[in-house]
Amino acid sequence: MQQSPAVIRSRRVVLPDGERPADVLVRDGRIEQVAAHGSLLAGDAHLTDLGECALLPGLVDTHVHVNEPGRTEWEGFATATRAAAAGGVTTIIDMPLNSIPPTTTLAGLAAKRGIAEGQAWVDLGFWGGAIPGNAGDLEPLHEAGVFGFKSFLAPSGVDEFPHVEQADLEKALAEQARIGALAIIHAEDPAVLAAAPQHPGVHYRDFLASRPDDAEAAAVARLLDTARRTGARVHILHVSSAAVLPLLAQARADGVQVTAETCPHYLTLTAEEVPDGDTAFKCCPPIRDESNRDRLWAALAAGEFIGVVSDHSPSTPNLKLLQSLGGSGDFAAAWGGIASLQLGLPAIWTEARRRGHTLADVVRWMSAGPASLVGLDGSKGAIAVGHDADLVAFDPDAEFSVDPAGLHHRNPVTPYAGRTLSGAVRTTWLRGRVVDVHGEPFGRQIRRPLPS
Ligand SMILES: [Zn+2]
Repeated sequence: MQQSPAVIRSRRVVLPDGERPADVLVRDGRIEQVAAHGSLLAGDAHLTDLGECALLPGLVDTHVHVNEPGRTEWEGFATATRAAAAGGVTTIIDMPLNSIPPTTTLAGLAAKRGIAEGQAWVDLGFWGGAIPGNAGDLEPLHEAGVFGFKSFLAPSGVDEFPHVEQADLEKALAEQARIGALAIIHAEDPAVLAAAPQHPGVHYRDFLASRPDDAEAAAVARLLDTARRTGARVHILHVSSAAVLPLLAQARADGVQVTAETCPHYLTLTAEEVPDGDTAFKCCPPIRDESNRDRLWAALAAGEFIGVVSDHSPSTPNLKLLQSLGGSGDFAAAWGGIASLQLGLPAIWTEARRRGHTLADVVRWMSAGPASLVGLDGSKGAIAVGHDADLVAFDPDAEFSVDPAGLHHRNPVTPYAGRTLSGAVRTTWLRGRVVDVHGEPFGRQIRRPLPS
């Protein structure tokens, strides 16, 4: 679609080499020029002057569970992508579960792509899944453009997406090494989980004891050993425990191709503050204590995580067993997953600023890093000439109190309810067009770029 050119001007444009005043010229959905502030005459172009409001590249969130088809009442494409756009996220990569069917076959991928068509407010890609018995499906899915394959080392929480035992893992990683795919792994060890004390109920400390640090460390150690032997490129999803950090460092030193991510809830929330019975905070692996959180921040600052992504994983409020809705508040039985697609940017910015980090750091963690993980760094994740004009006007000094009623995801349950966060998304542009979450969606389905 032809668009008239636009100039977006801000005193605070976050570019790959840092923040500075600049003008950004957008034409036909792409960034055509980045020039000195005030230097581009508008001419036939439409000028938007953001003043002191910052201009960021749109966020790339590589860890989103949409759940449609099959569990659309948990979350669907329309609601998830609208929440994404409202939160400054312009690209999401959808996880292969908890939809039915899961994205473990070509037919499953076709079902996802078919139902998502015309529903997405942001650009949208898909992960595949590697489960016991589907090694033969991986190459066709890879060729069809999925961004890699997710496996669980412990039960996933849904029956149609079983976890891999060691023999399945070996097979899946060997096949992914052969075809050049990225293996993304939920790393908790089922034997450690089974041996941990199980005390169901409303006490968060009991839930935390049931998912110990060792479960993550043991799973990561086993995964890294398997990656070393198979030559697969692996990515550790949602690192919660700082106990895995030394293992990652050692593996990298040994030449294993490994990256890792963490999530806003592990960086902004702590076990100490989770109220008993408040299962909005339940996720797996769990939110841990404050000293652990400090170690995650130190690792993030040191570049040990390639990105910070939401792991947006909602369910219906009744499956969360929320006490506010008459549920039991039992952490062991409640659905494990936190819905935060719309809030990740202000949540991280609030804590990052407090710790002395800059908007450029946040952009590296939430936009450039995830884009590079999935090979989209040639078109997404930066305000750079030739990139898609996926942009966000972000007021870093605005403050707001989180009201679940203002969230666009399907079930407005969030552990951030009532918190005061810094930073507000004012406008989101997708390929040069302002996204209006009350208008028409024009997100595109995207595929893994072929290696050049
Ligand atoms: Zn997840």
